[in-house]
Amino acid sequence: MSLRQTLRFAVATSRLGAVARWQPARVRRMQQRRLGRLLRFAARHSPFYREKYRGFDLARADFARLPTTTKQEMAEHFPQVVTDPRITREGIECFLSNTHNLGHWFLGRYGVSRTSGSQGQPLMIVQDRHSLELLFAVMSARATTQRPTPFEGWRRLRSPKRVAIVATQRGFYPSGAAFEFMSELVGPFVRVERLASQQPDLFQRLNDFQPHVLVSYASVLDALAWRSDLLRLTHLRQIASSSEQLTPRARERIQASFGVPVVDHYATGECLFLSDGCPTHGGAHINVDWAIVEVVDRHYRPVPPGELGDKVLVTNLANRVQPFIRYEVDDRLALATGPCTCGSHLPRIERIEGRSGDVFWTRDAHGDRMLSGVLFHTAADAIPDIREWQAVHAERNHIELSLQLSCAASQSAADARTRLIAKLRELGLPREVTINVRIVRFLASDPVTGKRRRMINRVGPPDRWDATNDVCNVHSSTELIARRA
Ligand SMILES: [Zn+2]
Repeated sequence: MSLRQTLRFAVATSRLGAVARWQPARVRRMQQRRLGRLLRFAARHSPFYREKYRGFDLARADFARLPTTTKQEMAEHFPQVVTDPRITREGIECFLSNTHNLGHWFLGRYGVSRTSGSQGQPLMIVQDRHSLELLFAVMSARATTQRPTPFEGWRRLRSPKRVAIVATQRGFYPSGAAFEFMSELVGPFVRVERLASQQPDLFQRLNDFQPHVLVSYASVLDALAWRSDLLRLTHLRQIASSSEQLTPRARERIQASFGVPVVDHYATGECLFLSDGCPTHGGAHINVDWAIVEVVDRHYRPVPPGELGDKVLVTNLANRVQPFIRYEVDDRLALATGPCTCGSHLPRIERIEGRSGDVFWTRDAHGDRMLSGVLFHTAADAIPDIREWQAVHAERNHIELSLQLSCAASQSAADARTRLIAKLRELGLPREVTINVRIVRFLASDPVTGKRRRMINRVGPPDRWDATNDVCNVHSSTELIARRA
């Protein structure tokens, strides 16, 4: 990293820290200017968006009325979406087939990755250097309890912040591929140690490295918290969880075990800098100067703060090479209704209740019923000795549930099983749905991404369900579950 790049990163970080404290109207004006530029650029250089926005006057059109974009469209029309004609599907596939390319720039200028396809078909993601620099700059500026002042920057040059990233394995999944560039892009401010969650000397390596910040998936952090007696992390100041849903109980447990704030970043592979976890109140502040998040219901109508939406529409204002504009993400979020006392004026996501894809559809005398992942999360959280769980929708009205109990479980396995089923019934699991609970020694993560998949749907939605009709009595069951949760 040259001196010029170092200075540029320091200035960018300091400015991002300041913008988070601007009045919302001022940030919004900045956002709208960037949005206007992105729309014009996409319509001019991306054949896909030129066609999509045909007939719209982009200078005057209401953004909330522009057509949305799905993952399937982006995957099918990938060559027409990207704005650099040198980027081809075959070229990226060839690049991704060689793991030696991790940490290298495609065509000398683009970071590339691929979503796993565990939530649908895989999607290739291309980002330029600016987008990746922005990711690390917002993390340095906003996901921290220390204000990014010039003095702090100078201090970090003399004594770099030590960041330990514990992942399952290296790979071209979006966050993993991005972190490969961290040392290059953040350079002298940070020392990065990448560790694998399965390596036998993990605890020793963490003790030797003495990180200031520990970054990992919620399930890995939770596992470390259970054995925190083996760790002596005296310099640890913050823990960051990403990629998986962090339940309130796991957050409490991790925070209590390590005695430092736990921030929970919410992002998507398509917009890795979407938000940064709030160190004071939980949830995550949306980086609205560089991203737009629209929380909508299943008819694409805006959902007010405080209420849970059915999906979100994400616009990445930084990525010009593969524009994501009003891009549909099946996550269920609720925005906070009031300001946050941490000092950030950026809007905060208060609740993240998993993917709307993380639902099971069962059938009873009244019709089709949606069972949200919240039902299972809430029931498992109520049984203290359950450490991890996984629910598999095996048949329309049958669920297989695997439980991993904590090492020090005081209850018998039979007792945990009985109490869990009783709790699920109490929370609204219909009588028509049979459930088989088995106790396992260990629940493995997804072999590709290393993330924990708690809800696995092998049945799919009912035949007559589609996202635009009201046939199914979804609301009655989700509201019931949400209220009781
Ligand atoms: Zn906050």
